[in-house]
Amino acid sequence: MNLIFLGPPGAGKGTHAVRLAHELNIPQISTGDMLRQHVREKTALGQEASRFMDAGELVPDDVIIGMVRQRLQQPDCANGYIFDGFPRTVAQAEALSSFTDIDAVINLIADDEVIIRRLSGRRVCSACSGTFHISRLENPTVCPDCGGTLIHRADDAEETVLNRLEVYHRQTEALIAYYRNKGLLLDVQGGGGVEENYAGVKRALKLA
Ligand code: AMP
Repeated sequence: MNLIFLGPPGAGKGTHAVRLAHELNIPQISTGDMLRQHVREKTALGQEASRFMDAGELVPDDVIIGMVRQRLQQPDCANGYIFDGFPRTVAQAEALSSFTDIDAVINLIADDEVIIRRLSGRRVCSACSGTFHISRLENPTVCPDCGGTLIHRADDAEETVLNRLEVYHRQTEALIAYYRNKGLLLDVQGGGGVEENYAGVKRALKLA
């Protein structure tokens, strides 16, 4: 099954994609995670991408499309995959359709106020990529799952979050109509609690 999680930053794409990928035994492909790894490893791609990421802007389409095309050639993608944070523009979606078929697109719906509250309190584990809200952590710097170090992503700072949301509305939201027209879109409420939202994802995919 080839799936896409669409939605604003902080709608729960990563949380649900990781869990579903684990259950279906297929890889979760997060272009954000791939880019952050390039930045950490100081590759040429990472150096080009970081100035866009720091500002909450989108990395140019050709960089992203090349990176994804390569990733899909890995053997672990043979039985399907879940995209999280890709595509983010119609140009990326068009390119994707030229080299793969998508079975369904989960559109996670959440209000801007919910997103701002979630992201400004979000902490991410630098070891396992798990995400947590600060209000639920006993220790705000230690991952409760694996003991790794929790970080507050620079682009989760409030000012950058506002820009990322604006970029979502301006450049990514058009994908809702794009995939609805193709008959692939499944709307799922993402504004509630994690379990409730995840149950909605499973129902939409007829997996529950
Ligand atoms: P994310 O972790 O998905 O929120 O992505 C973090 C940042 O990486 C975004 O704010 C963008 O700067 C960049 N990024 C991730 N995925 C894409 C994409 N598909 N197209 C363009 N930029 C991306």
